[in-house]
Amino acid sequence: MKKKYYALPFLLLLCTLTACGGAAVQNKLDFFAMDTVMTFSAYADKSLLGGARDIVMNIESRVSTTLESSEVYALNRDGGGTVSGETAALLDTALTMCRATDGAFDVSIYPVVRAWGFTTGGEYRVPSFDETAALLEHVDYARIRLDGQSVTLPEGMEIDLGGVAKGYAGREAAAYLRKHGVTSGLLNLGGNVQTVGSKPDGSPWRVAIRDPNDPQSYAGVVEIRDKAAVTSGGYERCFEENGETYWHIMNPATGRPARNGVVSATVIADDGALCDALSTALFVMGAEKAERFWRSYGGFDMILITDDGETVVTPGLSYTPADSAPYTLRTLEP
Ligand code: ADP
Ligand code: MG
Repeated sequence: MKKKYYALPFLLLLCTLTACGGAAVQNKLDFFAMDTVMTFSAYADKSLLGGARDIVMNIESRVSTTLESSEVYALNRDGGGTVSGETAALLDTALTMCRATDGAFDVSIYPVVRAWGFTTGGEYRVPSFDETAALLEHVDYARIRLDGQSVTLPEGMEIDLGGVAKGYAGREAAAYLRKHGVTSGLLNLGGNVQTVGSKPDGSPWRVAIRDPNDPQSYAGVVEIRDKAAVTSGGYERCFEENGETYWHIMNPATGRPARNGVVSATVIADDGALCDALSTALFVMGAEKAERFWRSYGGFDMILITDDGETVVTPGLSYTPADSAPYTLRTLEP
């Protein structure tokens, strides 16, 4: 009988210790990868954050277009080859998104992006229509052959998985953390946000969406749990010439910056790779086509900000516009 009285405090103490061991304290890790600053923070051991970073670095080393030792570099140089299982999986994901968006997202747009100077850090230029037309002859994801781990590119084609790599890397890093028992984390991959679980108190993560017309300020806040939120915005990388603004998101149908009325496209879904590719694709499609795509494809939520001052959101989202943001909110019918 007496023993029972001692057992209770001991059990309590044990629980407290276990809770501490599992949830740990909040740790943060900043690093530079994929051309951007990444910040990983999670209620997890520092070594786990290091492991998550290594996953990102590893993906970058395989898919970089500029690193001579990367697998994608070799594909572009040799017109194909055999890649690792991981790179094949990423290429497969990317090609799935190219097909799903009917080429609004196209991994073979790379030479066009380069002609505009968006790959070379600052040497921007407006190529002629003839130049982009010639480059477009080699743009067509449908002609890429992926057979297991064997890749064949048609003559003259070059690919870039940069449009899905950050989202894919976030997804893989989150999966790694979850596998190691982490239930609360926020991974920021240069604006691509990937959450793990919720905040430690169980409430959702709050992700701010930048105001595309005033990127220092924000247009609203979306609440998410365990999902990714990825934004493509024309303001991210752009230049001005003769009063015209040109940005890094290309319309593969024209070889010129996509100008279909969307100035910011955010996609929220479980799969960060899908979010990354779709945010680019919806930006290219414009609001009307994007709505039709959302209805037919499903499985994701979106926040579109248009150049006529509207914010279009899907009904499943918990989105709160900022008081100061000058946009009319339109929530789509379910
Ligand atoms: P970032 O990845 O730079 O944050 P986005 O996710 O919006 O920005 O992707 C834009 C990048 O993807 C561009 O820098 C370019 O390399 C590439 N890209 C541009 N247009 C397209 C497109 N239509 N399809 C696939 N990739 C694209
Ligand atoms: Mg993207």
